[in-house]
Amino acid sequence: MKDGIRLSCVDCGVRNCETRDREYPEFCLTTELSPETVEKVRRLYEDEENRRVSVISAEIENEFYLRYTRVQELVEFAKRMGFHKLGIATCVGLLEESRVLARILRKKGFEVYGAACKIGSFEKKSVGVAEEDIANTGAIMCNPIMQAEVLNEAGTDLNVVMGLCVGHDSLFYKYSKALVTTLVAKDRVLAHNPAGALYQTGSYYKRLMKDDD
Ligand code: SF4
Repeated sequence: MKDGIRLSCVDCGVRNCETRDREYPEFCLTTELSPETVEKVRRLYEDEENRRVSVISAEIENEFYLRYTRVQELVEFAKRMGFHKLGIATCVGLLEESRVLARILRKKGFEVYGAACKIGSFEKKSVGVAEEDIANTGAIMCNPIMQAEVLNEAGTDLNVVMGLCVGHDSLFYKYSKALVTTLVAKDRVLAHNPAGALYQTGSYYKRLMKDDD
């Protein structure tokens, strides 16, 4: 505890869990893990899919470190996992980018099936969105549960998220049966580079560091 805050990994400057050549901090989460939790998680890695994903992700990270873009890593991951049918859960605002991605993936031999966020054309008011919260963005709601459902029915092996909104993406992750990876994290202000705001908290985005009232 410091100033009433329970310290955790986000407050750690040591990273001894990675390097193993320093002291763990007093509040270290690694040292606080119960044997039951360690055993539970260890067993989860015995699951065939979990093990395969772990091994293949590590291979790709190691082989193509600082050389492959995320698109290339995605292709490599899907190939090595033996996936054939790839789903794209896209924002309608990123349909152009999703089309390019689909072309790339098809050229690499994958079957591609995409579902856009407005699929089903449900009205926002049907789920209780207030009239004043429709004014700037239109009456039709993003429908991530439908996107997941349609891709589930299509039997995709892996789903790729392309710019779903914060929260809508959460529902997509919640309902997708296939594994999900995010290629584009939406940020309408920063050209889909949300980390840009974090890198600029010393300058343009200083205001993010102010306490909420
Ligand atoms: S697990 Fe421990 S050493 Fe690793 S980042 Fe968290 S607090 Fe730091």
